[in-house]
Amino acid sequence: MNNVTVDRIEAAQARIASTIHPTQMVQSTRLSELCGVPVHLKLEHQQRTGSFKLRGAANAVLSLTEAERARGVVGVSTGNHGRGLAYAARQNGVRCIVAMSELVPQNKIEGIRAQGAEVRIIGRSQDDAQVEVDRLVSEEGMTMIPPFDHPDIIAGQGTLGLEMADALPGATTAIVQLSGGGLISGVAAALKARIPGIRVVGVSMERGAAMYECLQAGKPIHVEEMTTLADSLGGGIGLDNAYTFNMCRDLVDDIVLVSEAEIATAIRHAYWHENQIVEGSGSVAMAALLAGKVKPDGPTLALVSGCNIDMALHHRIISGEDVDVTQ
Ligand SMILES: *Cc1c(COP(=O)(O)O)cnc(C)c1O
Repeated sequence: MNNVTVDRIEAAQARIASTIHPTQMVQSTRLSELCGVPVHLKLEHQQRTGSFKLRGAANAVLSLTEAERARGVVGVSTGNHGRGLAYAARQNGVRCIVAMSELVPQNKIEGIRAQGAEVRIIGRSQDDAQVEVDRLVSEEGMTMIPPFDHPDIIAGQGTLGLEMADALPGATTAIVQLSGGGLISGVAAALKARIPGIRVVGVSMERGAAMYECLQAGKPIHVEEMTTLADSLGGGIGLDNAYTFNMCRDLVDDIVLVSEAEIATAIRHAYWHENQIVEGSGSVAMAALLAGKVKPDGPTLALVSGCNIDMALHHRIISGEDVDVTQ
């Protein structure tokens, strides 16, 4: 058993305190009425860099030795992990390179660059970018910071669970996004240590629910990635997964899957009824409640995990257009 425990998450909370800001939790009038129990939204999409990924990245950067810090960090994510890593590194005076392929859209490149990372464009696939990362690690001694399957990342994301438990100690259900599982592993470990008996439900999209498929199979397997409105939830868990598969198996009570239409409905709900601009992935916990796929029996925590959505796409969705990204 090498699951990340709450003391490691508490240590992370102290370590990252000056890099992140604690986010608000608000009760949703609409969702509380709909569900018949108080539903509280943890507004983590308002975190610096637009998602919780900053927490894990900051904890990983601040856990490096002096020598490792001096040589810098490297990542391959073009999304929220890349942004969080770039910000955490700059904030702490550490060099950061994010490697990506030529196929990555310009707005994503700018998003990473804007947070202060060096962007290195290599080849025409994620695999080519990975070759450059391996070279930076072996030849220049840089440290690769993975997006989810690492104890420092899991502990950093878990600090969200500590904040949620402090804000609503009487919660009976928590609903949390699930992709690679770094987020829910840390949050569930923190919540279950602080609120014995709490039920933790993971939410993934129907299109490419990697951890769900792996848990069904009883081991990490290859799951095909598909386009989805919940683009930050895409990708596999890694066939050599060392932490999050076991932690999800041990700590997640239930997993529900939401459709593209349900995700769009939740993005609209967030905008028109909660005054929040939320990306597809960030909205899936609300989507599960709105669709009646999670039926809570007491005070409920629903996480809003990120806001980084293409604003033209967001505009089309909230205007009522029936957007289909799966074609
Ligand atoms: C990365 C991400 C998730 C999923 O986190 P995992 O640790 O991969 O499960 C959820 N929401 C947003 C906005 C993300 O960026």
